[in-house]
Amino acid sequence: MIQIKMRASCAGDLKLLNRMECKISDNFDRQMMSRCIALSVKSGIEREYPYAAILCRGSEVIAESTNKVAHDHDVTRHAEVVVICEAQRRLRSISLSDCVMYVNAEPCVYCCYAMRESRIGRVVYGLRSPQMGGNSRWNVLADEVLSNKLPEVFDPPPEIVAGFMASEVEQALLNWNPFVWGTIIKRGLFVAGPPDSLKRRHQSLAERVTRALLPFLRRTVFDRFGRWI
Ligand SMILES: [Zn+2]
Repeated sequence: MIQIKMRASCAGDLKLLNRMECKISDNFDRQMMSRCIALSVKSGIEREYPYAAILCRGSEVIAESTNKVAHDHDVTRHAEVVVICEAQRRLRSISLSDCVMYVNAEPCVYCCYAMRESRIGRVVYGLRSPQMGGNSRWNVLADEVLSNKLPEVFDPPPEIVAGFMASEVEQALLNWNPFVWGTIIKRGLFVAGPPDSLKRRHQSLAERVTRALLPFLRRTVFDRFGRWI
């Protein structure tokens, strides 16, 4: 992409470049969601809950996992949280602000809180979860009170892409187990709605300056010595 950018020397080239960037980004999203769907089906086949999560930084997969609740006999082992733990350990940082999380179904409220505290910058998910979702049911993922009141801990809400490839997710899970997933659909626990996205809101100059300073302050003070302010 950098080489393409350097060659874009006129407005026409830049428009073309923007279209190419969107296409490349969309292609990458599709690639990651397809991988996530395959992982979730494998999870179901292995008698685990059929959910999976992948965390990327740029085009690199930092961590991926299925749910581990059934196998580990531990309700805290949701795929998203397992991935966040693994990524933080691998990157040796509790801040994942430059990372994107892909999940086949909307994260629950518990996982959404972990996403907000680890400051994940973008979340892409397939099916919506009107009963348990941390975005549809309880507004944790897009809540601004957290970041306004505790900016030393929380970033503003991530960019959210909901309903991404939802039909593909639903079909894959129906193919995996028509009875189980058919019952889940009938109960309205997960639904395949149309895609929509929530961009990060525009920030004032003061907010942008503060946001630019915060990563340094978090790295040197808040994240190292506790969040006591
Ligand atoms: Zn969860």
